[in-house]
Amino acid sequence: MKELMDKITKSGHVLGEEVLKVDSFITHQIDPELMEKIGTRFSEVFSEAGITKVVTIESSGIAPALFAARKLQVPMVFARKSKSLTMDEELLTSSVYSFTKQVTSKISISRKFLNEKDNVLIIDDFLANGQAAKGLIELCQQAGANVDGIGIVIEKSFQEGRHLLEEMGIKVVSLARVTSLENGAVHFDQADA
Ligand code: 5GP
Repeated sequence: MKELMDKITKSGHVLGEEVLKVDSFITHQIDPELMEKIGTRFSEVFSEAGITKVVTIESSGIAPALFAARKLQVPMVFARKSKSLTMDEELLTSSVYSFTKQVTSKISISRKFLNEKDNVLIIDDFLANGQAAKGLIELCQQAGANVDGIGIVIEKSFQEGRHLLEEMGIKVVSLARVTSLENGAVHFDQADA
């Protein structure tokens, strides 16, 4: 998605050779117009798939997931990273190691929001080593739901995530594929959509 790649080039910041900071339009301040276009693109790719729910993880996946869900006219569910006091019902849970925070956290979704009739599109802001996506897939599996595919805003193709997900037989659609962050610059491969 050219507009996304242009925005990353213009407003993204490279931190070392592994981390891309996009806090001015995705992970802290959010660009609603760009997020709507991103969500729309995901909805177009998966328009014929019979998606019944969009699933993401708080917090930065919520904006693109919400726009995709709006276009697909289905609910969006986000996995919580900490248990809310009001979550007294049965939970689906899995563990996720965070690449950026370097801690393992438990994620959960209430069982009542995912079931075996669901055909899920998972959406997340970044794909690095695939741990967040894998945790979300596990939640869907616990519910007996099918994962139709994964939509990623920014894939870091030099890390293991895509390989891991494809080995699981999951379709990955990334709107920007970053091949390297060497010398402080962002280098792209051809995106999936
Ligand atoms: P993974 O689980 O695939 O290793 O990492 C995915 C999660 O880590 C994303 O949900 C995102 O929050 C965070 N993440 C991974 N790499 C980056 C990065 O380069 N920049 C930012 N801002 N977040 C990242």
